[in-house]
Order: sequence, then C-alpha cells, then structure tokens
Amino acid sequence: MRTHKIAAIGGDGIGPEVIEAGLEVLDALVTQDGGFRLEVERFPWGSGFYRQTGRMMPEDGLDTLKRFDAIYFGAVGAQDVPDHVTLWGLRLAICQGFDQYANVRPTRILPGVSAPLKLHSDADIDWVIIRENSEGEYSGQGRRSHRGLPEEVATEVSIFTRAGVSRIMRFAFELARGRPRRLLTLITKSNAQRHGMVLWDEIFEEVARDYPDVGTDRMLVDAATTRMVLKPQSLDVMVATNLHADILSDLAAALSGSLGIAPTANLNPARRFPSMFEPIHGSAFDIVGKGIANPIGTFWSAAMMLDHLGERAAASRLMAAIEAVTRARVFTPDLGGKATTREVTQAVCAALAHR
Ligand code: NAD
Ligand code: MN
Repeated sequence: MRTHKIAAIGGDGIGPEVIEAGLEVLDALVTQDGGFRLEVERFPWGSGFYRQTGRMMPEDGLDTLKRFDAIYFGAVGAQDVPDHVTLWGLRLAICQGFDQYANVRPTRILPGVSAPLKLHSDADIDWVIIRENSEGEYSGQGRRSHRGLPEEVATEVSIFTRAGVSRIMRFAFELARGRPRRLLTLITKSNAQRHGMVLWDEIFEEVARDYPDVGTDRMLVDAATTRMVLKPQSLDVMVATNLHADILSDLAAALSGSLGIAPTANLNPARRFPSMFEPIHGSAFDIVGKGIANPIGTFWSAAMMLDHLGERAAASRLMAAIEAVTRARVFTPDLGGKATTREVTQAVCAALAHR
C-alpha cells in the first residue's frame, strides 16, 4: 500500500490544537479511503522546547525531517520569546533549509461564509497568491552596529537573484496555466524600488514569452490592495515578493471571511526536500486553550498536502467535506458561529463518512 511519512509539528499557541484536529480528520479520511497510509510522527518543537533547551528544534532537526515526505505545521510565536527567534528558529529554518521557494496561498470564499466583500458586491474571490519564499526581504541579510548608541544603525537588505526570480516566475506561470482563467498578475513596487523590483519586471517579461497562453498584467503593490477589495473578480493568480505577498495574503484571508480559513503550502517543487503545509495564521494568543480555534485553514492545508503527495482523489474528498460543513454553517466564533474546534472537526469527519 502507498505510505506517506508525515512529520507533524504543532508548535505554539493554537498550533497544536489545530494540528491535532487536522490529524484526526486525516485519520478518518485514510481509514475510509483504504488506498494509502499515513505514517505520522509528532515533534514537540517550538517555544516550550526553546525554554527547555535554548533552541526551537534540535540541532539535527532538519536531518530528522529530511526522512519525511511532508511536514504538517501549526504555528510559532510566544509572548515571552522574541518573534524573530521563534520564526527564524523553526519555520524559516525549515523553509530556507529545505529550499521551499514557492509559497502557494489559495483564497476562496467557501460556501456559507459571509465574507466582508459580499456586503457590497456579488463578486466572487478565487485567487492564488504565489509568494517568493526564499529570498527578497526575508533573506536574513543585514546587520546592527553601534548598539544602544545614538548612532545605532540597522540594515535589512533585500536579495533578489536572477535564479531565484526566474524559478518563481516559471512556477507561477505553470500554475496559472493550469487554471481556467489563465491570468497572472505581477505585483511589485518597481517605481520606488528601482533595482530588485525592476529585475522582477524584466524577468517576468522574459518568462512570459514561454507562456503565450497565459494572460498577464502588472500592479504596484499598494494599488493591488485596492484592486483586491474593489475588483476582486479581475484577479486570478498573483506573484509577489516574500514581504509583499505576506501582507497581501493576510488581506486575502480576511476578505475570504477569516484568517482561520486560509491554507498555505511551502513547496520545494523539485522534491529534493519535503514540503511544508500550514494554516497562514499564527499562535492567536487571545484564544489559546479555549477550544475555539478555527481548524478549517489547517484542514484545507491537509488537502493541499494530499494533493502534493499525489493523493488527488483524497484531497478532493477532503475539500468536499470541508465545504459541506461550511455550507451547513458549522462555524467557530471567528466566522460568527458558536461551534468549537472539536465540533467542526467532528462535523468534517462525519461529512467524510457520507462520501
Ligand atoms: P495571529 O494569526 O496569531 O492572530 C491574529 C488574529 O486572528 C487574532 O485575533 C486571532 O485570534 C485570530 N485568529 C488567528 N487564527 C485563528 C483561528 N484559527 N481561529 C480563530 N481566530 C484566529 O497573528 P498575530 O496576533 O499577529 O501573531 C501572534 C503570534 O503568532 C506572533 O508571535 C506572531 O509572530 C506569530 N505568527 C506566526 C505565524 C506562523 O507561524 N506562520 C504567522 C503569523 C503570526
Ligand atoms: Mn504572514
């Protein structure tokens, strides 16, 4: 039987709550499918681990994860550990160490969800944001000097390489080509950022020549926010830098109803290393331990993981079960409902049993 090895890292805050819910749903799916098995191993890495050991994961953490086919990740971030420590110590360490350069963030308004945009428009949202995930503003280049003195200086350098930009463009064009509308929008800020962003513009034009069947257009990132709000139906696939796409995808998530719904895949498209699947939200300090975290983004991420593992039928069945539950408006409070994480999880498991 086909077996896929999954490393599960709940991390911090509501991360472990939603990952456990996700594993329960995956278990129900697999039991019923019968065509494949998931071999899941859990890793208790994160801020708790950091408090005990001074590290977010063991020194050989990446070597351990290398043996897996995929990583299922919750969130990191704690109130008593600096955010740059938690982020760089675990999530970015994995993304960069495993060259997960393509971050894929689909946005749709799921059935039953009343998203803010529906209030003043019938326009639907069906987007995929492709975030460059290995360089740009989050490459970690920079220094601080003269600490604490009035002349203190900090640099935060964005790195854009021809190799890095070309591969994310090709990835974005390929993805856009596989969708019905075949439209790719390049999002930059090449009026103000006249080196790296102009390189993005140039490489986009070059790569576009190989994809004559994909329509293209360009936006500056600030204008892109207004287009997302005012003309959402005019967008299909967007490609943007690490920082820009990070911000745009939180906006996209909010426009689709809640941050708690949105999934993401951090892909190593060459499959030299495992890819990582996670909800886009963070630790959500305000709701930790209350049992009301929305697990839908984590379930949708599991569907993306199955798709990546080649289990397309199982991925579609899971998406159909998620949509059956949102259609029935079994919602956690962030979506205006009264359901708990547990109730949404059980509803999805029950919906799976009916298909
Ligand atoms: P957040 O996503 O944790 O929370 C923002 C708001 O959205 C909160 O009100 C929260 O309750 C709500 N929310 C988020 N996920 C939800 C869910 N599943 N169900 C219901 N409500 C949900 O963002 P933040 O407050 O900016 O960050 C908190 C911590 O998380 C910080 O330490 C930050 O660094 C970290 N963070 C981590 C990641 C990650 O691991 N990928 C992403 C974003 C933030
Ligand atoms: Mn983010």
